[in-house]
Amino acid sequence: MTARILVVDDVIQNVKLLEAKLVSEYFDVLTAMNGEDALAVIEKEHPDIVLLDVMMPGMDGFEVCRRIKGNPKTSHIPVVMVTALDQPKDRVAGLEAGADDFLTKPIIDLPLFARVRSLVRMKVLMDELRLRESTIQNFNIDSMSNPSQSVSIENARVLLIEDYARVADRIVNYMEGLASVQIDNVASGEITAANLDDYDLFIISLNLQNIEGLRLCSQLRSNENTRRIPILVLVDEGNISQLVKAMELGVTDYISRPIDKNELLARSRSQFRQKRYADRLRQNTQKSIELAMTDAVTGLYNRHFLATHLDNIMLNRSTKPIEVSLLMMDLDKFKLVNDEYGHAAGDEVLHEFARRISRDIRNIDLAARFGGEEFVIVMPETNLEYARFVAERLRKSIADEPFKLSISTVPIQVTVSIGVAVTGKENTTSSELLISADKALYKAKENGRNQICSL
Ligand code: GH3
Ligand code: MG
Ligand code: MG
Repeated sequence: MTARILVVDDVIQNVKLLEAKLVSEYFDVLTAMNGEDALAVIEKEHPDIVLLDVMMPGMDGFEVCRRIKGNPKTSHIPVVMVTALDQPKDRVAGLEAGADDFLTKPIIDLPLFARVRSLVRMKVLMDELRLRESTIQNFNIDSMSNPSQSVSIENARVLLIEDYARVADRIVNYMEGLASVQIDNVASGEITAANLDDYDLFIISLNLQNIEGLRLCSQLRSNENTRRIPILVLVDEGNISQLVKAMELGVTDYISRPIDKNELLARSRSQFRQKRYADRLRQNTQKSIELAMTDAVTGLYNRHFLATHLDNIMLNRSTKPIEVSLLMMDLDKFKLVNDEYGHAAGDEVLHEFARRISRDIRNIDLAARFGGEEFVIVMPETNLEYARFVAERLRKSIADEPFKLSISTVPIQVTVSIGVAVTGKENTTSSELLISADKALYKAKENGRNQICSL
């Protein structure tokens, strides 16, 4: 997953240094040397992340950040402030201007790459959710909330995992008025607080006596109920390797000890905002499921939703030319299942088929029922090689495990043929992409079924 990063600094050596570091990790880099130019590049090029120097003549970094965050067209782009000194004052000013993170000069590689990657992951997910919300808007549903409407961060709930009572009490004090904080000292070596999915934020010390804090982070990330809740970790100043591990586990943010009250409040506020925003997007997507965008037999999106969403994705490619892959899947000899076991059994197979493919794709991928026994999966930011890999995995997940039917004790063998297509020069509209996938599918059928094919 590559990303385009805009580096803004008034000192040419700083720009060159950061550019070289980022290019060596295969990021695309854009540059600007003052605030005005930066805003112009952002407007025109839609970078995925902005690395922004604070001290610049003319418009300083705080002002540039305020403008990025104040413009609804650019407010979703993550901004990382680069401060010359490790000044808590600058950090707080940056967060108040809406910055998503900071780095301090001199820039150290590991935290730089860890921060950038974690923000890229976050942005890809948010972009896809935003796009889905805009597709839903195309359906003209008035009851949907307006995407530009700001979210409330009232009644936020925090679970603080810290066994050092004095620090824990101080944090509770600091947060008074912003959120209600419950403390868990994990004395038994595990979290005892209940209803974990009700929290808006976990704050976790990485120096616990009875369990490794990183282990707790990893558990919370792999649990279905808590994986979407942000985690803020408390790390020892200068413990870079601990920090990098935390970032790799998908921790959302960190604070170095000693904890600065303003920084804690500003970072928590920004996590609450992101969480509430993501919740709202998900609820809207959820609402769409109750509406006429899904198919009753399989619960997947229907053909109409797919067509609208695919058009949106393709339209978006005019500003951001990502590769989009598409799988067209058709069950093999499905008529025989109906003929032998009846239509209701056929429906059961379709239902189970949909369950398996939904289980095996990523968050940002979209599965839809395209026709009777035809299904489509759209995979943004995916090249042909990876798409073929996913297609083969899906094919196996169908062929390798026979399907149980309620009317028969013996499970039946089901197979699927899959055509794979990716956007390129020839297929830049959604119908062109669908047609190439369909041709590839036809080839897979011709070659004997139960296989994947690309043109
Ligand atoms: P091929 O390998 O060439 O795809 O063979 P096939 O039998 O799958 O293809 P064909 O297009 O001839 O038949 C598709 C069958 O899918 C016909 C229809 O009865 C069945 N079908 C389509 N929609 C549904 C549905 O909603 N429920 C059930 N039970 N069957 C369906
Ligand atoms: Mg068919
Ligand atoms: Mg078929």
